[in-house]
Amino acid sequence: MSRYKFSSTERWAIFLVHGMKCYLCKVPIDLSTMVVDHVLPEYLLDSPSACSAAKAKLGLPASFDLNSFENWLPACSVCNGTKSSVQFEPSPLIQVLLQKLAAKADEAHRVSAEVVRARQVANALNVL
Ligand SMILES: [Zn+2]
Repeated sequence: MSRYKFSSTERWAIFLVHGMKCYLCKVPIDLSTMVVDHVLPEYLLDSPSACSAAKAKLGLPASFDLNSFENWLPACSVCNGTKSSVQFEPSPLIQVLLQKLAAKADEAHRVSAEVVRARQVANALNVL
């Protein structure tokens, strides 16, 4: 269970940008049941030394943020429960996954920001 409280716009961006499917089993999911998985588990935030070691092991910079679009992927609850707190070992597949996440992070930020702007416009129109 994630401790980070995702905004609805963050959830929407993760869902949309990553193809509306579970990143592990590739089965289509819906937004209401989607679970957001942390590729590097969130519990690492409790231990700065373990967190630094995990980042270094995967070749990630110290500035890598575990609670960012660079580390979030959509999953179904079955896969998320199976993965649980497992840390991926360094492998070509994990490197590809992290590179894809980094490449899509800007798009996810843009989608999230667009939804926020659309809401602000809608709220402003409601006030008028
Ligand atoms: Zn799945």
